[in-house]
Amino acid sequence: AALPAAEQALIARRERLLGPAYQLFYDQPLHLVRGEGVWLFDSSGQRYLDLYNNVPSVGHCHPHVLAALTRQAGQLNIHTRYLHETVLDYAEKLLSTMPAALGQVMFTCTGSEANDLALRIARDFTGGSGVIVTRYAYHGITASIAELSPSMGEYVPLGRDVRVISPPLHDPADPERVGREFAAEVRAALADMQRCGIRPAALLVDTLFTSDGVFADPPGFLAEAVSAVREAGGLFIADEVQPGFGRTGSHMWGFQRHGLVPDLVTLGKPMGNGHPLAGLVAQPHILERFGRNACYFNTFAGNPVSAAVGLAVLEVIESEGLQANAAQVGGVLKQGLEALAQRFAMLGEVRGVGLFIGVDIVDQQGEPDGGGARQLVNALRQRGVLIGASGLYSNVLKIRPPLCLGQAQAQLFLDALEQVLAGLP
Ligand code: PMP
Repeated sequence: AALPAAEQALIARRERLLGPAYQLFYDQPLHLVRGEGVWLFDSSGQRYLDLYNNVPSVGHCHPHVLAALTRQAGQLNIHTRYLHETVLDYAEKLLSTMPAALGQVMFTCTGSEANDLALRIARDFTGGSGVIVTRYAYHGITASIAELSPSMGEYVPLGRDVRVISPPLHDPADPERVGREFAAEVRAALADMQRCGIRPAALLVDTLFTSDGVFADPPGFLAEAVSAVREAGGLFIADEVQPGFGRTGSHMWGFQRHGLVPDLVTLGKPMGNGHPLAGLVAQPHILERFGRNACYFNTFAGNPVSAAVGLAVLEVIESEGLQANAAQVGGVLKQGLEALAQRFAMLGEVRGVGLFIGVDIVDQQGEPDGGGARQLVNALRQRGVLIGASGLYSNVLKIRPPLCLGQAQAQLFLDALEQVLAGLP
């Protein structure tokens, strides 16, 4: 369908005012005006089931989060160089969800800043500079983090201290192979650093490898790679921006599925349910010297309004049992997708855990089919269901709804996907 004149005008205005960096989703871009729970509404009143947005993870415009935000915004908002209980109450509650060794938190406004800070701390602590990341990883937008986010493409060159390794395999038939080969990749990168006179600072991974195409299993496979980097003097930084805050269903944090305690953990996206709140959790001894000497101050980060919002988000995850819901509804979703994959050759591997699922879209030869994924994403949008695609070939359907997705809503998606697949030539 042709885009209505009002939306065409908005697109032109947007291009004129915001310039070329601002992309839009979908062949027919969406003009959203309202959100509620797992639903989004466009300017014509049409509703969309949101299976894409993991930021509003307790649901769009959640009343408890909204109340906390407005209450604190009406009372005081100020930076962190004054005493304030709410900031500490939030820190305490957040740290209580982590292993005891992860004892301190620093706040930032974005996941990029959190990773940037983690990198500075890791380099300071280890005296090394080298960082290992996976082939299609995304960790953020600052100059230093763009240099270690290969998914940004060749226009943004990788840093000379950065080593890129293959993402984990998916091999349910031989699960032990996954950890073994991933650790071998890490060891090869460490050896290459040594040859080049680079000391390692960190292995930095998204613990669900979401940008790489979602590689979650088997639980525990990361442990051998982490041991290898630690033996070489580097730290393990778990990027929990995507996996964190209960999304995996089985655990609050992705690293817990691997039985690991990271040196540094970075957080963002769902932390504030849409409010710009992110941060870093650390083992205190690692933070000690950097914290005392680096004069780190982040004007907006960890202010009382953000802290009140963050606290409310954790309260909702707990009171509504959203982690358990992610496990349960995520299971239904994955099973449904696996059943569809039996019937439709276009669906290849189904990967992921809880409410983060990736599905390979493949052509008749079984090769990655980015065009096919794009076609499905747009066809679903026309049927009122929002998902995305990611991975090296943009062929992995990315399904990561708010954690309050219900079983009936998961079924709505499965039915819509089935109809779209059945309607393709
Ligand atoms: N790490 C990961 C794994 C991410 O997916 C992202 C954002 N997509 C970031 C870091 C950066 O977060 P932000 O956009 O809040 O800077």
